[in-house]
Amino acid sequence: MITFEHVSKRYENGISALRDVSFGLDRGEMAFLTGHSGAGKSTLLRLVLMLERATAGRIRVNGHELQRTPSRRAPRIRQAIGMIFQDHQLLPDKSVFDNVALPLMIAGLGYREIGRRVRAALDQVGLLHRDTELPDRLSGGEQQRVGIARAIVGMPPVLLADEPTGNLDPDLSQELFGLFSHLNGQGTTVLIASHDLALIRSMGKRVLVLSDGRLVDDIAADEVGGGRA
Ligand code: ADP
Repeated sequence: MITFEHVSKRYENGISALRDVSFGLDRGEMAFLTGHSGAGKSTLLRLVLMLERATAGRIRVNGHELQRTPSRRAPRIRQAIGMIFQDHQLLPDKSVFDNVALPLMIAGLGYREIGRRVRAALDQVGLLHRDTELPDRLSGGEQQRVGIARAIVGMPPVLLADEPTGNLDPDLSQELFGLFSHLNGQGTTVLIASHDLALIRSMGKRVLVLSDGRLVDDIAADEVGGGRA
């Protein structure tokens, strides 16, 4: 589903954020991407989303060769990817429902179809009963779940998250990772950047480790201790 072959990324200021990174994430797989601050986690996710271009190497996402894909086609690539950010970037003056509906409205779906899909997405994250509220009436964990509902409402085959638990306490973080695991169980391919090692270990999923832009470890799920499943 996602393949990196000898991928390097050098920013214009000369910083090498990724160096010769190779890995593959199969359809339906879930993995964590970890490493120190500045290790290259965000850069890797931004390359998958075509928010940045690789300097060298090949990236394949959902059958598309990104280095051969012109930037004007990036929106099509992104349609197949749900992205969750640390600060969920909800619109404060729109209801939970409208925030989640936004990608579908942009895609031009009909009113009835939007309603059906938004309710299904909110149900998945356990927030169907909060649909008319404004985001600031919700707790941090709930707001992050609205962000997840918005990411999955288009039913993308791939879900990426960049430090999604950055602002949450350990219990809520665990709950959120459990939600990702649940979505993965339904067939979604999931890649989560996080530096929360204890939490990652508790999930018992594959772990990719970046250090100074290099992929220094790739730990299979059955080698990761403490799985909750
Ligand atoms: P992480 O997500 O693991 O903290 P990043 O991918 O954000 O790592 O950053 C990797 C390296 O690339 C860091 O040294 C960072 O300063 C640098 N970097 C990130 N984004 C840019 C950018 N837009 N321009 C220049 N350097 C960048």
